[in-house]
Amino acid sequence: MRANVTPMYRGRLAPSPTGYLHLGHARTFLLAAERAAAAGGELRLRMDDLDRQRSRPEFLVGIVEDLRWLGIEWRGEIVRQSERLSFYHDAFRRLRASGAVYPCVCSRRDLQAAGHAPHAEDEDEPLYPGTCRPGTGCAHMGQEDAAAWRFHVPDGEVVRFHDALAGPQAFVAGQDFGDFVVMRRDGVPSYQLASVVDDGVMGITEVVRGRDLLRSTARQLLLQRALGYDEPVWAHCELVLNERGERLAKRDTARSIRSLREQGLAADEVRQMALVR
Ligand code: GLU
Repeated sequence: MRANVTPMYRGRLAPSPTGYLHLGHARTFLLAAERAAAAGGELRLRMDDLDRQRSRPEFLVGIVEDLRWLGIEWRGEIVRQSERLSFYHDAFRRLRASGAVYPCVCSRRDLQAAGHAPHAEDEDEPLYPGTCRPGTGCAHMGQEDAAAWRFHVPDGEVVRFHDALAGPQAFVAGQDFGDFVVMRRDGVPSYQLASVVDDGVMGITEVVRGRDLLRSTARQLLLQRALGYDEPVWAHCELVLNERGERLAKRDTARSIRSLREQGLAADEVRQMALVR
């Protein structure tokens, strides 16, 4: 008989090296470190560097420096998504073999012309109108190489999860989010796919990240189920807002950890600024 042991807590810090860390990242990562320590577990550091245009080595180095300065520790080597493409392609082949994904040749312009704007509250991808869904008569036989691949969501299904920080969550597939891209036409996996595969393969037991990603979590749950990964605990923390009440972006350089440090603030002061609500 298999003993029913709870796996050791393993969390991850998953910055994108497309800019320096700001107070919002600091809040997320400090909370992740706190939760890992409270559970007697560990954190891994994963660089979400699949965006080749925007990822830069100096940001990667800068992020590592800033994390160390903040006193945030992780275990093991830095995991770089750009070096793990074979994992994502394996998972993609499984999705393809099971019929969970389909090729889509719609261009960005097609989608704009159809009037499908991204949700206003975040920079989410537009709700896909289903133009290339199987059975619509839009056959792409032989065009697979020129296509992006979308996950076919179960329209109307309510995707529920409990969030350790944000409470119970429910999103309706086909309304709150539509068929989303898992593989781009240039063969680069989307954030949704890469994140789910890494969390699964790396044995991540808890995902701590910002609330801007709640809707992504609903998508990722569907992907996890399709790929047979265990569901981690979710903990989405409140975003740090600027004085206009907007969430911080990488362009808010005044709030970057780097510039606060250059202004002479001590790590402890920055930790407090990041955690204050
Ligand atoms: N790299 C993502 C970001 O910086 C975070 C992804 C995640 O935590 O799943 O927004």
